[in-house]
Amino acid sequence: MSPLPVLVVGAGPVGLAAALALRAWGLPVTVLEAGPEDRVRPGSRALFVHRESLAALERMSPGLGDGIARYGVVWRTRRTLYRGREVYAQTFAQGRPGRLPPFASLRQVDTERFLMDACRDAGVTFHWGARVTEVTAGADAVTVTAADGSAWQARYVVAADGARSAVRAAVGIELEGDRSPGHHVVVDVADRPDGGLPVERVFHYEHPAMDGRTVLRVPFAGGFQIDLQCRDDDPPSAYGTEEAVQRWLPEVVGPGWADRVLWVSTYRFLQVVADAFRDASGRVLLVGEAAHLFPPFGARGMNSGIADAETAAEAIATALAEPAGAAAAVDAFAERRRAAALFNGRAAGTALAHLRPGRLMRAKQHAAAALAPVLPRCGSWLEHAPYGPRHVAPGRY
Ligand SMILES: Cc1cc2nc3c(=O)[nH]c(=O)nc-3n(C[C@H](O)[C@H](O)[C@H](O)COP(=O)(O)OP(=O)(O)OC[C@H]3O[C@@H](n4cnc5c(N)ncnc54)[C@H](O)[C@@H]3O)c2cc1C
Repeated sequence: MSPLPVLVVGAGPVGLAAALALRAWGLPVTVLEAGPEDRVRPGSRALFVHRESLAALERMSPGLGDGIARYGVVWRTRRTLYRGREVYAQTFAQGRPGRLPPFASLRQVDTERFLMDACRDAGVTFHWGARVTEVTAGADAVTVTAADGSAWQARYVVAADGARSAVRAAVGIELEGDRSPGHHVVVDVADRPDGGLPVERVFHYEHPAMDGRTVLRVPFAGGFQIDLQCRDDDPPSAYGTEEAVQRWLPEVVGPGWADRVLWVSTYRFLQVVADAFRDASGRVLLVGEAAHLFPPFGARGMNSGIADAETAAEAIATALAEPAGAAAAVDAFAERRRAAALFNGRAAGTALAHLRPGRLMRAKQHAAAALAPVLPRCGSWLEHAPYGPRHVAPGRY
């Protein structure tokens, strides 16, 4: 049997985006996914879909970016508080009709539902319950074997199988980087039938009700996410259990929300990038969390994964159409997306230095908060610094 043109391993948001991007190039696509078809993945996780990602999804599947933008929430007000006092607030004008918004905020599970529907419409073939365990790259094709012994051959493989990527391990690519100390507790809360909190993103440094821990509130379609930044020596059980959340949530959002909790997760940050984004044969391309992991502030994880997926699809389409230029096309993908990932890693590092401040940075934040009423740029710095620099020059995100 002749090899398939391309296989995608992993049906997370990045694998689904890769499948759509490949379909947009007219290629037949097969996706291998370890999980079952009827799975429901939990939690809000990557809430924030940037305009660049919406535009990329629109290119892959006309109507998709627009549909996600319409479903998601776009908050127009951002607020920053420092120890209970507001130091920055800005409300933006309504976006122009007919233009994609600057972002859309929705739970990752909802984004994946949109992507999945688009994949079905585009005729992507899925094999569920196919946990890939072996990958052997030859000169002309790659053989991919699942735990139950099923095997597939493809000219190219897109590895989108997430942080513990079996494909990455099988082709001998290593992750380089660090794990940051401490953990965050992430809580999703559903709006009440009579409405929700104001649709505002609120960042609160050293929240007085949380004994000085920093708290972020982000609205999403149907609810809001609270991110509590724990101290390095906080045991996870102190804030990260359902019981603990029932105790502290009213302190930060008021009464009447504790029985609306949808999901609680404890999250540790990794800041790692693969040492190569393609294997030695040039036939296995790494995308999304298979290739890089960043702390979520700045929303670089899923968004940069969507850019990886689009770039990988273009490289594979070029390589299949022009075999003489195949190696160059795949190398260009790998170099461009690794450079973007290294930028994102550094940007996330800058944000983390602000979020987990040493003594000097803490003193700087304290001074900026004191000066904010008379020097608005101090408030603006406190508002923007937790997300790191905005854009990467080549290839963005
Ligand atoms: C608490 C939390 C908060 C987050 N917040 C944000 C945020 O605010 N903004 C942001 O951009 N990102 C955020 N992220 C990260 C975001 O969730 C990831 O970037 C995103 O899920 C990565 O998508 P992916 O498709 O690369 O990998 P995944 O979503 O992990 O998908 C990988 C897929 O591969 C499948 N798979 C795994 N192994 C195999 C195998 N051997 N064979 C076949 N299939 C396999 C898995 O079942 C899964 O379906 C957050 C993550 C967490 C946990």
